[in-house]
Amino acid sequence: MAWYPDAQRMEVQPEGDDQPAIRPTQLIFHSIAAPWTPRRTYEFWRDDTNLESHFGVGYDGSVAQYIGTETRADANYLANRRADGSGAVSVETASDDEATDPWTDAQIDTLIRLGVWMHQHHGVPLRVCRWASDPGFGYHRLHDDWSDGGTDCPGDARVDQFHDVVFPGIVQAAGGTAEPAPAAQLERFPGADWFQDEPDSPIITAMGRRLEAEGCSAYSDGPGPQWTDSDRRSYAKWQRKLGFSGADADGWPGRVSWDALKVPRS
Ligand SMILES: [Zn+2]
Repeated sequence: MAWYPDAQRMEVQPEGDDQPAIRPTQLIFHSIAAPWTPRRTYEFWRDDTNLESHFGVGYDGSVAQYIGTETRADANYLANRRADGSGAVSVETASDDEATDPWTDAQIDTLIRLGVWMHQHHGVPLRVCRWASDPGFGYHRLHDDWSDGGTDCPGDARVDQFHDVVFPGIVQAAGGTAEPAPAAQLERFPGADWFQDEPDSPIITAMGRRLEAEGCSAYSDGPGPQWTDSDRRSYAKWQRKLGFSGADADGWPGRVSWDALKVPRS
């Protein structure tokens, strides 16, 4: 059982006693699609649903904890608890009913401080989760295995804030540097011609997940193994993010942009 010292403790039972232990390796951010205080969110977990999160953050940055971080919570589907005993810690955040509004400055401040605590207390590494079981930080829609049938959560505005403000803020406040993947675990550049043949390969899925994690998604349904125009448009966003333009940002992968993307071996 671990309780974040800056949170108000509002333990949900019987889940807090009955659910199995986890070794927390990930922190996943959500929007709850309701403008709720942490107490109202507690009442929702207590009375209306079993899909609870560990934490709830109000618009004013106030935070409550409902489940100890070494106990399973049920908001993240296959990331709740894995066969090796590892699992995700989840954070619900107040939002408008459609989960389209950005986090407030006070919410961002709380999310960063909570992220630093997860890094220091539980050793969550300072990186964006590269695949569904990869230890690190993420948001609900980042990986398909984290939702049952897909989700937009936490909304486009907050996905952008995660990449631009929240995750960099956690890294900076923790006094660290974001961890790149070790070179031996990276997919080598398959060659420009390989992409022109419109491959059907797990490498394309892994590439797409990295593009999503970099905030360069043009996917409507998330990445898959078959190379499509969505891959090309997403990759073009990545090339522009690196500062390329013109023919160097046409969406066809080249060695420099590929190596910078750090696609994990699949
Ligand atoms: Zn969610």
